[in-house]
Amino acid sequence: MRIDLHTHSTVSDGTGTPAQVMREAAEAGLDVVALTDHDAVDGWEEAAAEAESLGLRFVPGIEVSAKDRWVSIHMLALWPRPEDAALAEILALTREARVGRARTMVERIAVDYALEWEDVVTHAGDAATVGRPHIADALVARGHFARRDEVFAEVLHNSSPYYVHHYAPDVHDAVRAIRAAGGVPVFAHPAAHARGRVVPDRVIASLAEAGLAGLEVDHRDHDAEAVARLAALAERHGLIRTGSSDYHGTGKLNRLGENLTSVEAFEALEAQRG
Ligand code: AMP
Ligand code: ZN
Ligand code: FE
Ligand code: FE
Repeated sequence: MRIDLHTHSTVSDGTGTPAQVMREAAEAGLDVVALTDHDAVDGWEEAAAEAESLGLRFVPGIEVSAKDRWVSIHMLALWPRPEDAALAEILALTREARVGRARTMVERIAVDYALEWEDVVTHAGDAATVGRPHIADALVARGHFARRDEVFAEVLHNSSPYYVHHYAPDVHDAVRAIRAAGGVPVFAHPAAHARGRVVPDRVIASLAEAGLAGLEVDHRDHDAEAVARLAALAERHGLIRTGSSDYHGTGKLNRLGENLTSVEAFEALEAQRG
């Protein structure tokens, strides 16, 4: 069984439509795949229908933006009820804040690079959630850079003078909201330090107290040392170890199925559905 629990579509900052992601998942030989767009559930219906016709098991998910003080955290929510009002409210606030934040970043970037907000709107297309990758695509289209990762390295990284924060819920509140909506919270790439600051071990301990179910241990952004540290933390706190690709289509190097979740771990997660 090949199980990949973290992917993105054009509903957020992936480059394939939800149905395309499902078709690529089938081609990659996956048996189970989750769609986890940032702060949005809009891709679920299309993905579920396509997955069903492909004989692929679909898991509805969200990658919820959150924070611990100033550290940005991504919390996967697997199987949350989309009609849950409290969770929907948090996601709506974040999506709204992301628009203002992206506009401010564009104003700052436009001082040094030819760029307009309309460029970003064009590249965001029908996305429910606007993110830095859409700004990156706009700068690439303007000919300033060749690829998304070059724009991140130069302009969009977390300590860049162009960087702007956006509202996101406290991560403990996010975990509780996901649980209250029947979802299963898994901390995404908890040690991806190349992207910015990461939380210390004690935060993972307090998140376990708050209802965290799992840790995404196996992920491209974790080196061997990070994997060892996270595997030990998962063991110590009774958290389920997952692995996934964090696929973004052609926007990143991550390939579907490059990291996988075991059947035992998947069954343990599913047993926690509320
Ligand atoms: P945002 O959600 O707007 O803060 O943007 C963060 C997103 O940008 C992450 O979820 C990644 O998908 C993407 N990202 C971060 N670093 C890179 C990179 N070096 N190349 C391409 N995409 C990236
Ligand atoms: Zn993303
Ligand atoms: Fe993430
Ligand atoms: Fe992701």
